[in-house]
Amino acid sequence: MGNCNSCPSKGNCNSDSGCSGLVPKYGKIKHIIGIISGKGGVGKSTVTGILAVQLRKLGYTVGVLDGDITGPSIPRFFGINDKRSDISQVGDGGEVKFAPVETSMGIKVMSLNLLTEEEEAPVIWRGPVITGVLKQMYSDTEWGELDYLLIDMPPGTGDIALTIMQEVPLEGMVIVSTPQEMVSMIVKKVVIMAKKMNVNIVGVVENMSYVICGKCGEKIRVFSKKTAEEQAEYLGLPLLAEMPINLDLVESMENGNVEDYVSKSEEYEVLLDNFKNKIGI
Ligand code: ADP
Repeated sequence: MGNCNSCPSKGNCNSDSGCSGLVPKYGKIKHIIGIISGKGGVGKSTVTGILAVQLRKLGYTVGVLDGDITGPSIPRFFGINDKRSDISQVGDGGEVKFAPVETSMGIKVMSLNLLTEEEEAPVIWRGPVITGVLKQMYSDTEWGELDYLLIDMPPGTGDIALTIMQEVPLEGMVIVSTPQEMVSMIVKKVVIMAKKMNVNIVGVVENMSYVICGKCGEKIRVFSKKTAEEQAEYLGLPLLAEMPINLDLVESMENGNVEDYVSKSEEYEVLLDNFKNKIGI
């Protein structure tokens, strides 16, 4: 019945039921990449933001969908948490269209926090509702022509992550982990889930890997004696980068100039180079 060659969602098409992958209504997106972790607080949103800035710096058009609905931190990363998306009516059937909020570099961001009145209001919804909202934010946002859409996915192997892997045509996924978590079963579960869902894993980023001694410049691994390469090997994944604990990065976020800081810093070039190599750009 369906033709899977033209289906945007490779993992979600079979010749009986046809193509049922989600397609954005108001945009055309060339590459969709998910960023995921085993648990929260390891720097998944930070890595999403850094990659978005680096890709934008190369001249690509970039969007970021904050899919971590219950812990959205992308607007805060870019310092746009006081802005709100314009919501417009489409036709008279009750359909709406969301305008993404643009960062100073022109990265188009969509997050539930940009749609709700108060940033602090908690999301007290059950899984199916959250999944529906996420799908709507993906498909009803006016993305326009994008080279890259990065999706900051919810951590772990819950039903929202599963829906994204099943229904969104992901070209690949980047896994983010701290050193102590790299060899844990939670990250391994994410890797196994991605493989079962036929989602390509671009590689793993080890975040908060080390600190640099302010006096002698020595790299000190604070959470694990194993190297990041050894840890990535355990997971059977390519290492995209090991990133230090960096208080200048945190400060730049607090001061609202993270895009300027990240685009000038050489620290994140390895991440971008390895990402480009694996994606083939
Ligand atoms: P997640 O998306 O995995 O929940 P976040 O990216 O929101 O994690 O990061 C959690 C916290 O850790 C944030 O306060 C962020 O500023 C901080 N953080 C993340 N990566 C680093 C880093 N490399 N150096 C210093 N702080 C970091």
